[in-house]
Amino acid sequence: DKYLTKRVKSMQESQTMRISALANSMKADGADVVSLSAGEPDFPTPDFVNQAGIAAISAGFTRYTANSGILELKQAIAAKFRRDNGLEFPVNQIMVSNGGKQTLANTFLALCQEGDEVIVPAPYWVSFPEMVRLAGATPVTVETTIENNYKMTPELLLAAITPATKMLVLNSPSNPSGAVYSESEVRALMEVLEGREIFVLSDEMYDMIVYGGVRPFSPARVEAMKDWTIVSNGVSKTYAMTGWRIGYIAGPKWIIDACDKIQSQTTSNPNAIAQKAAVAALTGDQSIVEERRVEFEKRRDFMYRELNSIPGIEATLPEGAFYIFPSIRGVIGKTFGGRVMNDSADVAEYLLKEHFVATVPGDAFGAPENLRLSYAASLTSLQEAVNRIRKAFS
Ligand code: PLP
Repeated sequence: DKYLTKRVKSMQESQTMRISALANSMKADGADVVSLSAGEPDFPTPDFVNQAGIAAISAGFTRYTANSGILELKQAIAAKFRRDNGLEFPVNQIMVSNGGKQTLANTFLALCQEGDEVIVPAPYWVSFPEMVRLAGATPVTVETTIENNYKMTPELLLAAITPATKMLVLNSPSNPSGAVYSESEVRALMEVLEGREIFVLSDEMYDMIVYGGVRPFSPARVEAMKDWTIVSNGVSKTYAMTGWRIGYIAGPKWIIDACDKIQSQTTSNPNAIAQKAAVAALTGDQSIVEERRVEFEKRRDFMYRELNSIPGIEATLPEGAFYIFPSIRGVIGKTFGGRVMNDSADVAEYLLKEHFVATVPGDAFGAPENLRLSYAASLTSLQEAVNRIRKAFS
């Protein structure tokens, strides 16, 4: 351990690992565990996308490509930004990486270093603070409240800014809370940042999984912030392509060029076959996206209604993604199964060990009084999970 770098030592180990390792070993021992801990759609990759991958292999499209992705894919991404997000980016301001994760890591490495602060609203997706630390910078987490649907307000943002602030990370729709910032909320936040030389990294990974007529609004649409905003997205969630590893960013050319340079000296191009499959996903028939969105919305409605009917649990209505993130403040401090529930980790462990439901404790997302439940599972599984949770807290 003494030989390890400060860089890696400053990163925390994934706190979600313990619960998922436990769930897996219980399953291996034959336990009937309902797993609501998944971070990926339960649907398969659409067949026409798979076929495009197979065709790429058959055609011998199996060699290095341009480091930042093939032109055909960048054009498909530019068209997607125009179609779905109201954003115009020329292809030289777009770059493709190995999943959304690599686009984010490249961006942090390109823009953040020792002495820089990066504002990360909590609850946050687990990797944001760790990637900031990996880049040598300091994550500054800003706690949001259930009253505000776990969204950061302009007041909270303003209070977090210091002369060292380099960047704000916005993730809408949010993993884990499902919160979506409206156009006016995004504009109000951007007004705080205007003229301050602070970048916005907008993680829009769940932009197509939104409910109740809500549409996410990209900060890159705010004219004054366009030169300061980097948009990150990918095909992982929208097209159930988590294993293909294709993500992309768009932003100011000089930032994209820097990310290109980092990627060229680390991983080189993302998988050639997966790039072809991603072209098919983005340019093909989009009706499957809507079908699945409708299915997710039914599950969201079910989980919201059922969880809120359990005493001690209070959930906000997710407007996007496929997670619900209830506060379990009402059960913390109580005794269940002979053990005092001190925090969400205790609750998650109790639910798993005694009632065979796998959830993710909120600590991992900077919210120790919450639990994340993924509804990327069938309604039958969700019903079973809810029954078990209700019993667990009765
Ligand atoms: N951003 C958010 C908010 C996510 O939830 C995830 C995946 O869980 C990612 C990025 C990473 O996506 P990918 O699998 O494409 O690396």
